[in-house]
Amino acid sequence: MKSPPAPPSWAAQAPEAEMRASVEKVRSATRAHSKFFEESLPLIASENLLSPYAKEMLISDLHSRYAEGLPGERYYEGNRWVDEIEVECLALARRLFRCNFADVRPISGTVANLAILKAMAETGSTVGSCRLADGAHISSASFGAFGLRGVKPVYYAFDTNRMQLDVDATKRILLQERPKLCLFGLSLFLFPFPLRELSETLKEIGALGWYDGAHVLGLIAGGQFQDPLHEGCTVLSASTHKTLPGPQHGIILGETSDPELTRKLQSACFPGVTSNHHLNAMAALSIALAEHLAFGEAYARQTVANARALGQALNDRGFDVLCADQGFTRSHTIAVRVEKEGGGEECSRRLVDAGIVTNKNMLPGDKSSKHPQGLRLGTPELTRLGMQEREMDRVAEILHQLLHQGKGVEAVRAEVRALKKDFTTLKFCFGAGEPAYRYYDLVGH
Ligand SMILES: *Cc1c(COP(=O)(O)O)cnc(C)c1O
Repeated sequence: MKSPPAPPSWAAQAPEAEMRASVEKVRSATRAHSKFFEESLPLIASENLLSPYAKEMLISDLHSRYAEGLPGERYYEGNRWVDEIEVECLALARRLFRCNFADVRPISGTVANLAILKAMAETGSTVGSCRLADGAHISSASFGAFGLRGVKPVYYAFDTNRMQLDVDATKRILLQERPKLCLFGLSLFLFPFPLRELSETLKEIGALGWYDGAHVLGLIAGGQFQDPLHEGCTVLSASTHKTLPGPQHGIILGETSDPELTRKLQSACFPGVTSNHHLNAMAALSIALAEHLAFGEAYARQTVANARALGQALNDRGFDVLCADQGFTRSHTIAVRVEKEGGGEECSRRLVDAGIVTNKNMLPGDKSSKHPQGLRLGTPELTRLGMQEREMDRVAEILHQLLHQGKGVEAVRAEVRALKKDFTTLKFCFGAGEPAYRYYDLVGH
C-alpha cells in the first residue's frame, strides 16, 4: 500500500496545542472584556444590554440555520419553527410601532438603509439628508450607503445652536432641489425632527419621508420621542440594539397602502441585501420586542429623564453641555463640548482609563473626526441597570473630579467600581435580576 501524499505546503497545519492556546487567548480576553464592562460606567449612546431570554436565543441552534425567503415560502426545508418565530416577530413589530409593514431580515441598521435605498431610490437621483458634521450617520456619505447606491445627498439647513433643522430654510431647499426621498435621522440625535412642519412640503414635491431611527427606536416605541410613521414618514429603518435593547440586527417598518412599495422593500431585503438573516438574532429580536411592549414605556421614560439629569448635573459643574436652554436633550444622548478639558480624544482616553466608557464626537464647527471637540454621552445602558437621576448626579461628580479637579485615575476608578457595584443586573425585562455581564462558560474542559 502506498501512503497518502503529503498535504501541500499551503494547507497550513498548526499544532493543536498552539491553536488551543489561541482559543484560550480569545476566551480570556472576552472574560476580561465582560469584567471590565461590569465594573465600569458604559455611556456609549449606541450600546445596550440584552435580556437573559434574548441571549438564550443567540446561542440556540437557530444560529446554525438558513431560512431564505418569507415564512411559508422558503427555499430550504427545516424551517417550520423558524416560520413561527418570524411570523411572531413581524406581528410584535407591527404592534409595537402601530404600523402595517415590517421586515426583520436586515442584519444591521446600515443593511436596512441599503435595502431602502435599493427599493426607493434610483441610481443618480438625489436624497435629502443632514450633513455628517451635523450628526448624520455614515450611511448618508459618498463613502457609505449613499455612495454605494449611487445617490447624491441634498443637504437640509441645520440650526447648530438648536441642534435642529431650520424649517423655513429647509423648505426652500426642498422646493428647489425636489428630492423624491427624504431621510431624517442622526447619530447625534438630541431633538425630534419637525416632521409635521415639513410634511406639506414633502407632499408638494412628491417626496416620501424616510426616518432612520437607529438611535431612538426604543424611545419611539416607548412613546417618548416622536412617532415618525404617524407624522408623515412612510418608512422607518433602524438598528435594534441601541435604545431598543435587542440583539445586533436591523429592521424596516412602514405605514403604506402601496403593494408595489411593500414588494420592493421585501425583495430589497432578500435577495437584495441579505441571504442569511441571522435567525438567532431574529428570535432574540422577537423577545426584545415583546419585552419592550411590556416594559418599554417605563424604560424609555427613565432613559430620557436620566439623560436630562446628567446634562443638568454636568452643566452645574461647569461642563459646556450643548443646548442648555432647551433642557440639553429630549433623547437618550447629550453632547458636551470639552475644548477646555483638552478635547474629545484626550477626555475619552482619560475617562476610559478610569472605567468610564464614552466616545469622542464631532460637533458642529469641528473640522476633524479624529480630533473633535465633543464627547457624546448616552444613558441607555445605565438606565437598563436601574440607575436613576441621583446616580446621574454621582456620574457627573465623577467626571468633574477627573476632568476638572485633578483627582487621580486610580482613585476615580475606585469610585466608579463603588458606584457600579449595586447596578449589575438587568431591569425592564422578563428574567429581571439576572447578571447583565455574565460570561457563558459552555465548555468545562
Ligand atoms: C448606528 C446607526 C446606523 C447603523 O447601524 P448598524 O446597525 O451599526 O449598521 C444607521 N443609522 C444611524 C443614524 C445610526 O446611528
